[in-house]
Amino acid sequence: MIAIYPGSFDPVTLGHLDIIERGVILFEKVIVAVLCNPNKQPLFTAEKRVEQIRHCTQHLAKVEVDSFTGLTVDYAKLHKARVLLRGLRVLSDFEKELQMAHTNKTLSKEVETVFLATNKEYSFLSSSTVKEIAQFGGAISHLVPENVARDIRIHYS
Ligand code: ADP
Repeated sequence: MIAIYPGSFDPVTLGHLDIIERGVILFEKVIVAVLCNPNKQPLFTAEKRVEQIRHCTQHLAKVEVDSFTGLTVDYAKLHKARVLLRGLRVLSDFEKELQMAHTNKTLSKEVETVFLATNKEYSFLSSSTVKEIAQFGGAISHLVPENVARDIRIHYS
């Protein structure tokens, strides 16, 4: 079975990477799909985010990285994927994720959302936390892959 792991990944964190690494154990292929959201002003372009994720998932043969616009369920159907993979951290994620999963179900009955609980080491970690820390010159190398930490340092220097 093919799974899509959709998200902003602005930037990809070790929490995301953990979900990807566990996803490939469960699924035949995981397509990490970077959402180009016209309503958000990202730190990195979608192309850059794809490049960053490709770099840090090089060791995972069953991972593909791509970007998309539009509805996630349409993207999933295009790639014959039956599963949307999402991560759950705290209770506030649950509310948002459940709403999204139900909405997607109304759009496509065939597509299932599968949640993986965060690794407890990364339950506090989000892309926005990383950006906030980096903005004020704090250490981020324990939160994001090495190539991403480098790109962030360059961005804020
Ligand atoms: P979105 O804007 O779609 O929420 P994100 O890049 O913030 O995109 O997150 C993509 C997915 O990864 C979401 O399901 C989110 O809950 C999950 N996620 C984000 N950070 C972590 C983490 N530290 N541990 C587990 N899952 C995470």
